[in-house]
Amino acid sequence: MKAVVIFSGGQDSTTCLYWTKNRYKEVECISFNYGQKHSIELDCAKKICELEGIKQTIIDISFLDTIVKSALTSNGDVNQLNEKGLPASFVPNRNQLFITMAHSYAQKIGADVLVTGVCQTDYSGYPDCRETFIKAIEWATNMGSSSNIKIETPLMYLTKAQTFELAVEEDCLLEVIKYSHTCYNGNREKLNDYGYGCDKCPACELRRNGYREYNSKFSIIKNF
Ligand SMILES: [Zn+2]
Repeated sequence: MKAVVIFSGGQDSTTCLYWTKNRYKEVECISFNYGQKHSIELDCAKKICELEGIKQTIIDISFLDTIVKSALTSNGDVNQLNEKGLPASFVPNRNQLFITMAHSYAQKIGADVLVTGVCQTDYSGYPDCRETFIKAIEWATNMGSSSNIKIETPLMYLTKAQTFELAVEEDCLLEVIKYSHTCYNGNREKLNDYGYGCDKCPACELRRNGYREYNSKFSIIKNF
């Protein structure tokens, strides 16, 4: 069985990569350059693939910035809400594009499964991370190409703390902390216990809180 992982180099997709590696014989990664404010996440993704000897294909979709408005691809405060009440960091149709292109690639290499780290539990307000959306696009892409590629979402109902727990189960906690990148401000100088980051932006906050929660649970178990 062959799997393609949509891999950004963040905590979630890094955990998914190891999850996939532990379950599928052949694994490839697909990463997107969509004009992120910082290329650090992509550099991290590249490094992890090299470390694990996994083939990575990087697709340049930097044109995205010319058709969407998002604080993640241009200047703007990622802490604000946009006019629809969605986080300013939301990139309209991003996951739809990612999945559609990764699905094409999966067809090209004859993969059976597409893995993405989207998650609706720690719902950051991104509508394209919900299971209903994933089911809809799985149906649409397969229907539109006479394919039968399953979209797996191992993190869909996990909290950030449970994603840390999963990293332990998949034997990749150190890799997640050391090599994955989450910080919206691209900070790679400050090493916190949960990983590199500015420790101030919403992405760092989410990751830090998840790590604290995971750690407190782990400490309780240890004390028994
Ligand atoms: Zn940060």
